[in-house]
Amino acid sequence: MDITAKYKVFDSLIEGVQVIGPSYEYLYVNNSLVRQAKSTRSRLIGSTMLKEYPGIEKTMVFHEISECMTKRDARNLVNEFEFPDGSKEWFEVSIQPVDEGVLILSFDITQLKLAEEKISSQYIRALEQKNQELEQFAAIVSHDLQAPLNTIINLVELLKNEIGQSTTNETIDTQLDFMASSTGRMKELIQGLLEHAQIGKNKEKQLVDCNHLVKTLLEDLGHLISERGAFIEVDDLPSVIGYKTELRLLFQNLIINAIKFGRVGHPPKVKLFSSMKDDFWEISISDNGIGIPKNAASEIFQIFKRLHPPKSYEGTGIGLAHCKKIVELHGGRISVESEVENGSTFRFTMPVVASPVLELS
Ligand code: ADP
Repeated sequence: MDITAKYKVFDSLIEGVQVIGPSYEYLYVNNSLVRQAKSTRSRLIGSTMLKEYPGIEKTMVFHEISECMTKRDARNLVNEFEFPDGSKEWFEVSIQPVDEGVLILSFDITQLKLAEEKISSQYIRALEQKNQELEQFAAIVSHDLQAPLNTIINLVELLKNEIGQSTTNETIDTQLDFMASSTGRMKELIQGLLEHAQIGKNKEKQLVDCNHLVKTLLEDLGHLISERGAFIEVDDLPSVIGYKTELRLLFQNLIINAIKFGRVGHPPKVKLFSSMKDDFWEISISDNGIGIPKNAASEIFQIFKRLHPPKSYEGTGIGLAHCKKIVELHGGRISVESEVENGSTFRFTMPVVASPVLELS
């Protein structure tokens, strides 16, 4: 059957429809596709994608089209397409193998993306405001609480030295030790809050190669890794635009937790890997540790939330709250999938760096 007649049913569809042959030639285009392509039917039919959109061979969408052409499997993606005149539009694209080559269904989601960007910038502004409030609170905590706390810590130390030596009363000794460890812990918690408020403050974003960042981090964690007999495997990780110090803190907290919350008798096995989902990277850190009960999975990102007592596993409970703040500061999300006694996988997303930025570095 003539190809125009075969696909006639798509002529007035709201989605763009195109059938592309094995040499990337346009065999069929519907009315919506002609509009989306900012072209004309007579120009497209007989011509090729490579001729009409020079440079398309370097794009993600072309990669998926050629993969579908050879592997004969369906693919979906959300893609920002740059036209030869420099304008950019967002499309949700579905690519299917057909007898003639591939059929591509495309839906223009530019307006939706613009609305999303507006919401996300409103969200970032709200986050900045929340951060400012937290910073003010932290400043009060640091000035008004740290000074008297330090006085108490010093006095407890003095008392321990003076009374502790002259008394044989073990209860007093124990109580003084308890006071010293409680005030010490309070100091740690205040320090954690101050660090939390400082995250992302007054810094410039830059291109960060996560492979390199994790490599140097693992070198610094060498002592802990060998002490615990941990085995760390790192797959290829992406480059992202972000705050380098904070990204390092993010990986550091997740890797240290993956080692720290190991099961007795099972050397920690930690794996870092990444995949691209639409316009986001998803970076995962999995372990074979003690795991987390399902009902607690979302709570552990709250400030000072701990599931395990400090006696069994040292820490303050602020690390994952830092991680959540860092990921959200970069426009991503963090989550955990876990099973008690069967390991955990922490996942976070980071926006994919647009290629022009990559070329600049
Ligand atoms: P900390 O490590 O100082 O306790 P975090 O904020 O990093 O604080 O973690 C909060 C809590 O989440 C931990 O106390 C622990 O109960 C749980 N947790 C975090 N990471 C893991 C992990 N990889 N495996 C099991 N539990 C974890």
